[in-house]
This record gives sequence, structure tokens and C-alpha cells, in this order.
Amino acid sequence: MTDPTHDPARTSWVASANGHPEFPIQNLPHGVFSPAGSGPRGGIAIGDSIFDVSAALELGLFGGAALSAAQEASGRSLNPLLEAGPAARQALRRAVSDLLATGGAGQPHAARILHDAAACTLHMPARVGNFTDFFAGINHVITAGRITRPDNPVLPNYRYVPVAYHSRASSVRVSGEPLKRPNGQRKLPTEDAPTFGPCRNLDYEIELGIWVGPGNPVGEPIPIGQASSHIAGFCLLNDWSARDIQSWESQPLGPFLGKSFSSFVSPWIVTAEALSPFRGPQPPRPAGDPAPLPHLLDANDQATGGLDIDFEVYIHSAKMRADGIAPHRLSAVNASVLYWTVAQMVAHHTSNGCNLMPGDLLGTGTLSGPDVGTEGCLLEMSRGGQKEIDLGNGETRRYLVDGDDIIFRAHCSRKGQVSIGFGECRGRIGAVT
Ligand code: CA
Repeated sequence: MTDPTHDPARTSWVASANGHPEFPIQNLPHGVFSPAGSGPRGGIAIGDSIFDVSAALELGLFGGAALSAAQEASGRSLNPLLEAGPAARQALRRAVSDLLATGGAGQPHAARILHDAAACTLHMPARVGNFTDFFAGINHVITAGRITRPDNPVLPNYRYVPVAYHSRASSVRVSGEPLKRPNGQRKLPTEDAPTFGPCRNLDYEIELGIWVGPGNPVGEPIPIGQASSHIAGFCLLNDWSARDIQSWESQPLGPFLGKSFSSFVSPWIVTAEALSPFRGPQPPRPAGDPAPLPHLLDANDQATGGLDIDFEVYIHSAKMRADGIAPHRLSAVNASVLYWTVAQMVAHHTSNGCNLMPGDLLGTGTLSGPDVGTEGCLLEMSRGGQKEIDLGNGETRRYLVDGDDIIFRAHCSRKGQVSIGFGECRGRIGAVT
């Protein structure tokens, strides 16, 4: 479903938005920002600027359904906007697009309603109530599974169940913060007994994050056909992983301290509406795989639940920064590697009556392709730490070292559409203190 807000011919009076690789007028992602010297408030990225929703409200630039949605998008947390649902979000998108379009009514107020993004601080866009991390990138399952189970990398439940675990919401933080290397119990397969100390196999996982919209009362599952109305938007998610801690602790109940020390999200919520032109059929399952059970199967979801998003992972080491070298691209992968659609994740999550809440965060699981250069984490790239990864400047890595910056980017491009981006999700590894 596209509308005039997606029109590729639509341009903005905000000159930097036209041709902007991330934030043209067709994107309009929501976030929370502080202008220099002022407090946090809701904003929308447009080119190299941020549109100040509360300033536009004070000027009386909103009316009708967009007025209440703008109020919900104006505060220091976007949970009210997430709760409001698709109709409110779409009304606000249309109103903001009209204000910022060439000839739009916002232009005379440019000095009041726009801030230079480079001078602003970006914050967590919403309070995360719960964080569930799925495992839907099947190539990650195969490649990581081969390290411990060479003959049987994919367990039999995988092709029936969108496997997930309940991760930690309190330590989800926004891009740009430092990541302190965690301490923990570590025991490599070659060691006789565990020791406690700094993680030696620190890794990232590139994932698509999903911001949950209205959600459901406990005991009332969301049917697969209605799941999309509970998916408010998307972000980049770095599920930092302490592989040595994780592998020792995870039997039999799964990851805990190897994951809970922190996960990072990109600051902008790219709305479900902005992604509309970049949807398509869910890729067919390999021959011989079972069809999803009926409660996870919906014809419309199969026809439109696939997402065409290109992800990239870059590393910028302390040496690269000192030498003035640009970040080195570690991998690139498209979201078509997801075995399950996001709607299937939502339907599965609530199928037992579990309630999702506005601001809950879902992760897809590591996005990895089958080929070299498409792996979504170092565990896969280094084959479990067995193989050196060449960074192209004389440096190598098996896992992350202190001072490394890990940078995720993502873009959507399609013929006949204006490309949009997610901004970046960035974190620098710091020493244990
Ligand atoms: Ca993960």
C-alpha cells in the first residue's frame, strides 16, 4: 500500500533531503533528540535536519487526526505513538510530508521547526518493556550450528517454530554509546575448568529490530492476518554476544549473561509505512521443508511479508582511525535470508496468549547469507574463532578488540522508488574497568 507520501516525484523544501541517502521525504523516521542546550523531545529525520514535532505543535501546524498523533510523537519517549497504531501514524506521516514537501506550509517556520542534526543528541526512541530475540536467519543457524553439530546443524523444530529466547530489555541502549567488555565465566572447549574474567571472544550480531505497536491483552493471541497492524516500525539491532561466556553457560537453558550485558539499537524508528514500497513475497522455502502450520500461514503475509533491506557491517579499528583509513566492510546481506516473516514472529509470540506491549522490541536473529562476505557475526566469519579475518590494512580479527568501532547500516532501494536508509547503529568496544 503506497500513497502520495511515497511518490518518487515528491521533493522537500529542506534541500538536503532531496537525494539524501538515508532521510529523503519518503522516509520520515521518528526518534527522540535533544537540540544543543535543550531537553529531549520527539523528532523526525529529514535530510541533514531534524523536524521538531513539539515546535510544530506550538505553531498550530497540525489538525484533525494528525494533531493527537503529533502529541503522541512529541515527548521524550515514543511509546504513546507506538501504542496509537497505524491509522494515527499514517495521519501524522501524511501531515508531516505535506508540511515538508516543496511548497508546503512548514517552510515559513523553518527556523523554528528544524534543527541541524549534527548538533543534536539522539536518545533511545522508546522505553523497551520486553526484548525478545528470534533466530530467523536460517544461514546463521546452519553455519553456527555446524560448529557444534557438523552433521545436524538445524534441529527438527526449527522449520516449524520461529525459535526465540527472552532477552534483557534493561540494557538495550542507543547507538553511539561505548560498550564495556563484559566479565564472565569463560571456558573454552580446550580448557579443563572455567575462570572468571573479561570476555575473550566478543562478537556482534547484525539484526533487524522490530518496534511493537498496540499489542494484545493477555490471553488474546494476535492472528497472523492482523499481525502487521501491531508492527509499528523497524531499526538496526546489534545483539552483542560474549561467545566464550555464552557457550559455557547456555546448556541447557540458552543464552543469559553472554547476551544480557547490552544490545544496541539505531535511534530512528523507520515506520512500517516507509517500508511499504520495499515489501514483496516471502522467499519460497527450500524443497522438502514443511509448510508453516495454519496459525502461522496467511496468504497476504506470504505475498507481502518479505522485506527488501540491504544491510552492511563495517569495522573501524583504532589503527584505522589513527591512520585516517575509512571503515572496512566486513559483510553485506539482504533481509531475504529470513526464514520467518515478522508477522509470523508476532503471531507465534502471542499464540499462547502472551501479551505484547507497545515499545516491546523484537530482534529477527542474526542476518547471514550462505556465502563468504554475507556472514552476520564474527563467529561465522572466523568459523568459531578458527580462521583469521583480514581487515585489508595488515590487521586481522577473530573476535573484537578494544577500540574497535562496529557500524551497521541499512538501505532499501527499488527501481522506481526513492531509496531510504536506517541511519547507523554504532558502538565502540571499551576495556573492562
Ligand atoms: Ca541474536
